[in-house]
Amino acid sequence: MKAKKDLKIEIMAIGSELLTPYFQDTNSLFLTERLNDLGMKVSYKTIVGDDWDDLALSIKQSLSRSDIIIAIGGLGPTKDDRTREAFATVLERKLIFNKELLQKIEERFKRRGLSMPEVNKKQSYVIDGAEILENRNGTAPGLWINARKKKIILLPGPPHELKPMFDKSVGPYLQKFKTDYTARTVLKITGLAESKIETLILDLHPDDPNLMLTTLAHPGQIEIHLSSHSKKSQEQADERVQKLEKNILERLKENVFSTSGEELEEVVGKLLRLNKKTLAVAESCSGGLIGHRLTNVPGSSDYFLQGVVAYSNEAKISALGVSPALIEKYGAVSSQVAEAMAKGIREKARSSLGIGVTGIAGPSGGTPEKPVGLVYTALAWDKGLEFIKNIFLGNRDKIKYQSSQKALDMVRRHLSKNKKGKEA
Ligand code: AMP
Ligand code: MG
Repeated sequence: MKAKKDLKIEIMAIGSELLTPYFQDTNSLFLTERLNDLGMKVSYKTIVGDDWDDLALSIKQSLSRSDIIIAIGGLGPTKDDRTREAFATVLERKLIFNKELLQKIEERFKRRGLSMPEVNKKQSYVIDGAEILENRNGTAPGLWINARKKKIILLPGPPHELKPMFDKSVGPYLQKFKTDYTARTVLKITGLAESKIETLILDLHPDDPNLMLTTLAHPGQIEIHLSSHSKKSQEQADERVQKLEKNILERLKENVFSTSGEELEEVVGKLLRLNKKTLAVAESCSGGLIGHRLTNVPGSSDYFLQGVVAYSNEAKISALGVSPALIEKYGAVSSQVAEAMAKGIREKARSSLGIGVTGIAGPSGGTPEKPVGLVYTALAWDKGLEFIKNIFLGNRDKIKYQSSQKALDMVRRHLSKNKKGKEA
């Protein structure tokens, strides 16, 4: 093993299906998360198919550059499962039949009233010198091999087999190679463009190699990911992140809606509950997405009363009581109609707050005065009515999403002005 700080970890996902558009290598995400929690960083991730030559070359490359190699998959009974054989060949070790292992696999089948198919026999061969990692959830045992001053760990592909095996037989033993303490937090922001955020926090970008700040932009939402390392203690890692988080919050203020992983609809739900307010929504271009997002939150029936998708003019008139003259005069996509929708749904549902959204999701239907992406969002409450005009960019999906985000954010900002909002 090299000095602790230079430890290189590699995850190798094996299986030709992982190189098609239909299967994703989710196991390596799980393993990376677990390793990061242990304060260990992954240096390489490889995905390789079941072809013998590709696999052998990939194993040689991993051995040449990494200290810990965790290989996933290819331990099954079928012909294309070659991980065991390929590692044995490259490491120049024999595969040795293990009688106890065979009995265990046979017993697994017996418990289900079946006899073991002959093909499963190959799973009872073990690379010479390897430690067997028990698989309580399947037939393929894992293997841990110490060879060439490296740790090589072979894990089965099915996630429900790999996860418990890693947690029980791998994670606790890798822990002693832990080199670092880590801390992480995510700030979620809406209502500010990425460039504006960057301008506001430019001088806060850390110069410290133990601290990282990354900005991820999605339509309608920006995330700032902060992470820190400490060789000394967890407290020091936590402190580093918390200090930076505090400084960023002072700059971005109420534009940050979450620092603990919550989605906007959860934050809105909490605020509604805290303020004992109810909500109803009238949606045109967002097509029910606001209602969908609100009802994704368990317990939303406490505050969400009604959602109406009023797509046609007739529906806006009959379901929400919007006046035909208003639509005639200003058009269905207008601030006046958005406000009438918000007021209308609030009255129909007898809710504390009403939301109305109308816009042009495209790709057709835009004009120079009213382009694709033009969206009016209105909020009605007992003492007032307000609207916001936006021109969102992107395809239909993105425009719908940003419309829902804006509507939810209007509710959030409205309730946050209230004294109780500050506690949420
Ligand atoms: P195998 O061990 O190669 O026979 O894989 C068995 C099954 O595990 C595959 O059909 C996949 O469904 C699943 N699997 C294998 N590798 C991965 C991976 N890296 N991420 C997620 N699932 C996987
Ligand atoms: Mg496979």
